[in-house]
Amino acid sequence: MRTVAVLGATGSIGTQTLDVIEKNPDKFRASLLSASSDAEGLFRLARIHKPDVCSLIRQPESIPDDLKNIQWFFGPTATEDALKASKADDALCAVVGIAGLSAVMCALDVCERVLLANKEALVTGGNLVMEKAKKRKKMLLPVDSEHSAIFQCLEAANGNEAERILLTCSGGALRTFSKEEIEHASVTDVLKHPTWRMGGKITVDCASLMNKGLEVIEAHHLFQMPADKIDVVIHPQSVIHSMVEFKDGACLAQLGLPDMRGPIGYAMGYPERISYEGKRLDFKALSSLTFDTPDTERFPCIMYAYEALRCGNGAPVVLNGANEEVVGAFLKGEVKFGEIPRAVRYALDHAVYMQPKSIEEVYALDDQARKLARRALGM
Ligand code: NDP
Ligand code: MG
Repeated sequence: MRTVAVLGATGSIGTQTLDVIEKNPDKFRASLLSASSDAEGLFRLARIHKPDVCSLIRQPESIPDDLKNIQWFFGPTATEDALKASKADDALCAVVGIAGLSAVMCALDVCERVLLANKEALVTGGNLVMEKAKKRKKMLLPVDSEHSAIFQCLEAANGNEAERILLTCSGGALRTFSKEEIEHASVTDVLKHPTWRMGGKITVDCASLMNKGLEVIEAHHLFQMPADKIDVVIHPQSVIHSMVEFKDGACLAQLGLPDMRGPIGYAMGYPERISYEGKRLDFKALSSLTFDTPDTERFPCIMYAYEALRCGNGAPVVLNGANEEVVGAFLKGEVKFGEIPRAVRYALDHAVYMQPKSIEEVYALDDQARKLARRALGM
């Protein structure tokens, strides 16, 4: 029986993680549930899972009487404080955005293993996170479906090194839109992801292809691969979750239905696979699997991410910070979709760069990027 701290419990990944836990009560128990401001959502989950510890960034007016036996933490450091109190074996980090970085760093200190969904932590603090995992001999298991696929292919490779990684990409909700239609795409258009159901921020990132750009940087850190050995393939059916190519030209791929409970369960159960009673891939019903090259003319964010990765020196932090800021403004209806690549470009062109050597320096660079993005948006 492993105890799991579910960070970002009220979100898309968090609730699917709790679903895996609920279906495997003999293997896992949620000992910590954390969220930011959705107190009602957290109360509901706490009644089902009965964790020892809970945290919310924003303190609610009161805690219901039936949940007062739980140890509660509130405020800006609530997630980290709760982690330290929980003594969970594993932390599943599904906080959205750079806000998850300090939680991931803390989880590497206090838990045995970190199951990582929060890609922004690696994009912004990749070196710091990987160094800490190595120094403290902690296992960092990917939950992002592409990275889980690559990890599974490498596990099957019997120690043979990958020559190239191929990340597959659905193409997002605007894949077939013209440049003009992309410029004015509405929040409703953008949130209609063709194959996956996810939180708002990542769904916008999928539509701009920034998500794939962030995943290239994530793969670079997780698998120690340089940018020119990480390729992106558009694959609208989202059946192949990613591939690895070896020096003899052979490719290994991992396939499955687009259901995050697959990669979540794989990370939680690792090194064993846990049973899943849901639908299976029906090969006979699959009419075709198609592949294409990303169109960087309509979706330049993916190119900016490669540029930031090659440039280093804090550029991925700037890319991510500007993106988080402008995506937030887009979701509030304050700016049009076309502003996303423009604001990111502006921040990349005007930032004062430095290689962050601490989490504080990462947050300072992030703050600078957000200010630049707001300036680009005239805010
Ligand atoms: P959601 O928006 O659905 O959920 C985010 C969770 O994080 C919520 O529980 C939210 O709490 C919490 N949260 C938000 N801000 C803070 C903060 N400042 N401090 C602590 N907790 C906070 O996101 P997703 O579940 O979609 O994504 C989570 C992460 O996983 C992202 O990094 C994403 O890129 C990655 N990921 C997601 C996939 C998916 O299928 N959804 C697939 C692969 C990766 P509250 O509800 O109170 O706001
Ligand atoms: Mg992914």
